[in-house]
Amino acid sequence: MDAGELERTVLCHSLGMTHSSGPRLRSILDAIPAYKAGQPARVLEGVTSHKLSSNENPFEPLPQIVQAAATAAASMQLYPDFASTQLVGALAQRFNVPVSHIAVATGSVALTAQLVNITSEPGDSVMFAWRSFESYPIVTMIGGATPVRVPLDSNDRHDLDAMLAAIDSTTRLIFVCNPNNPTGTAVGKAALAAFLEKVPSDVLVVIDEAYREFVDPGTIPDGLDFYREYANVAVLRTFSKAYGLAGLRVGFCIAHEPVAEALRKVQIPFGVSSVAQAAGIAALVADVEEAALARCEILVSERNRVRDELVAAGFSPSESEANFVWLRLGEHTSAFAEACESAGVAVRPFAGEGVRVSVGLPQANNQFVAIAKSWLQNRK
Ligand SMILES: *Cc1c(COP(=O)(O)O)cnc(C)c1O
Repeated sequence: MDAGELERTVLCHSLGMTHSSGPRLRSILDAIPAYKAGQPARVLEGVTSHKLSSNENPFEPLPQIVQAAATAAASMQLYPDFASTQLVGALAQRFNVPVSHIAVATGSVALTAQLVNITSEPGDSVMFAWRSFESYPIVTMIGGATPVRVPLDSNDRHDLDAMLAAIDSTTRLIFVCNPNNPTGTAVGKAALAAFLEKVPSDVLVVIDEAYREFVDPGTIPDGLDFYREYANVAVLRTFSKAYGLAGLRVGFCIAHEPVAEALRKVQIPFGVSSVAQAAGIAALVADVEEAALARCEILVSERNRVRDELVAAGFSPSESEANFVWLRLGEHTSAFAEACESAGVAVRPFAGEGVRVSVGLPQANNQFVAIAKSWLQNRK
């Protein structure tokens, strides 16, 4: 009997229980990595701290959105509209797609799980680049499918040729995270077009565009163009990042009807709250969305400034098209993250690989750049 079992047995006895073995849970749970959320910033005497660890929007939410959410909150005794009818209608209009092609959920992370559930059975596999969004392997394994991680290339980009080569008869679903979390790199239009041309038509390709509003639309393809061309392409978008609704949980998938319908079938009923629906609807009102996108432009110029300053200081950040920068620091990752955290800036380290730093408001970014510079100086 190990210490844990002993403890459980003692507890069971103290509760007067006669059967102490407990329910049998799925064996796969032991193999599933826990999602590591970005840590909060440390509270330090005399230092303003900043959380640059979760790719959150640093601006306070837009007043029209807060107002809509507050109004909806006054009816919280009622269940939300099951089908999110008004929100789906607004999305259909905004993106010029049929309402039947839209599935909404509690953030696009919920949709990543639903996408596994509608495509994959035990023995089937789900492919994605690695490193990429950490929810992909988790939802794949919970869904009972097998994750296939295809290493990024030497520039921290998706290696689409290697992904094509890794497709086999078990492949049911492929996530292409564009731009990629946590590296910020994005695949270009020609590369993605050539890839999609070769993926078998019965494999669903999901282009995860959580950071779409931060990319250069001149060079980075719009997944919706490919969705319009291919029946096996779906696009994930979210209100969490660009629109600043991360705490309310609402995202959506645009896909052809069989896929969107299947996604709606497997959704957890009444997931998207009435408050989240109202906020999403408000965010799509033209002048509100314009204000949100103007803030994204500010964040993009801050991202470019931070990146330039890091390069000037001697770092090699990847080419980022998102609201964060990525420093591949290898064995120095944890030390760098600790230096940031002890100076009041929370970042997101991936031990042994690199650090992802979200772009905040100028003061937070300045503080981060100063910490990074002095860390490099101290190492010389
Ligand atoms: C943040 C993020 C999401 C979605 O977030 P939600 O808050 O669940 O909508 C999806 N994909 C990637 C790659 C992300 O970084």
